Amino acid sequence: MMNSGALFETFARAPLAFERGEGCWLITAGGERYLDFAGGIAVNSLGHCHPHLVAALTEQAGKLWHVSNLYNVPGQERLAERLVQNSFADRVFFTNSGAEALECAIKTARRYHYTNGHPERFRIITFEGAFHGRTLATIAAGGQKKYMEGFGPKVEGFDQVPFFDLDAVKAAITPETAAILIEPLQGEGGIRELPQGGLAALRKLCDEHGLLLVLDEVQTGVGRTGKLFAYQWTDVEPDIVAIAKGIGGGFPMGACLATDAAAAGMTAGTHGTTFGGNPLAMAVGNAVLDVVLSDGFLDEVSRKGLLLKQGLAAVADDFPQVVEGIRGVGLMAGLKCRMPNIDVNKALRGQHLLAAPAGDNVVRLLPPLIADDDEIRIAVDRIRAAAANLAAAIDNAA
Ligand SMILES: *Cc1c(COP(=O)(O)O)cnc(C)c1O
Repeated sequence: MMNSGALFETFARAPLAFERGEGCWLITAGGERYLDFAGGIAVNSLGHCHPHLVAALTEQAGKLWHVSNLYNVPGQERLAERLVQNSFADRVFFTNSGAEALECAIKTARRYHYTNGHPERFRIITFEGAFHGRTLATIAAGGQKKYMEGFGPKVEGFDQVPFFDLDAVKAAITPETAAILIEPLQGEGGIRELPQGGLAALRKLCDEHGLLLVLDEVQTGVGRTGKLFAYQWTDVEPDIVAIAKGIGGGFPMGACLATDAAAAGMTAGTHGTTFGGNPLAMAVGNAVLDVVLSDGFLDEVSRKGLLLKQGLAAVADDFPQVVEGIRGVGLMAGLKCRMPNIDVNKALRGQHLLAAPAGDNVVRLLPPLIADDDEIRIAVDRIRAAAANLAAAIDNAA
């Protein structure tokens, strides 16, 4: 199955195409069923074709698609109020993607200092292994050479330090520093957790130096870790948070959340978007929250996350030549591989289990949050089968 050649060659795609989805399952035109534990890379938070999302989207589609931000969009106000009620935030700006949510977060942080009389404070400290998107500013924030090469001068104002090196953070703070930007749990970087107390240490530094703490929860947000936002596992309150992926459940949308103080400089005309916050997206975002905020839903994510982790740990114990260790929180899990993660991912696909490779030689498992115990067991069984095959191949070669 080849693509037509009419597309940019920017993606190394698997030779697979799906015709429909049901819950945690993706089905090809030929009727083959794959268990989807990549979840559109943490996007399909409620699986495929969740009835409540389908109803919300189709109902809205029959009423109104788009009006622009020249008018009030009631769905925006409702979704913003619900995000505010359930987080640190006072205000929300809606976008179409994670990178745009980060762009808004970066602009908001810079603008905060500008309106407080410090236009020189525009630099943002970021961490190695970070991923913040593919726009020019967000590749500079992510700091990965492979994403910046050939795209002209790096956007100015991002200072990257080694992953969670607090001394390096301290050393990087200058009178020009505006903010610290971090994922509470690195996703694409390889499901890398911060050390215990890590966010609190950053909050303290921010308070001491008048910096804003900006979190990228594009992957960790909206229930993925068993809390609505991953920072809620700590006592820390951030100033700005970017979300996307899970909030749309597959409909493209994102949001930048901020405190009143942090957002004070973002006045009429300073920022904008044509599509962001459109009625279709808002209908779906509200429907996602109906489910994720329903009684007991997030506790179930934690419980199922533990079930997944236990299963994966047993596989790692039995096949250490394939899987070196298990990482993650809630339904955001990583297999740290001993052999190339690409080969492990391919072997999983051979078992009709979809996962997503990440940095640091990790394979990510980001199942829909609605995955049930049986589906988690099937996934673990398939990972075990793939690991057994890979281990046997290694033994045969030796
Ligand atoms: C996916 C991702 C982004 C970028 O989101 P897009 O919607 O692809 O622009 C930014 N940050 C993190 C942590 C992500 O996982």
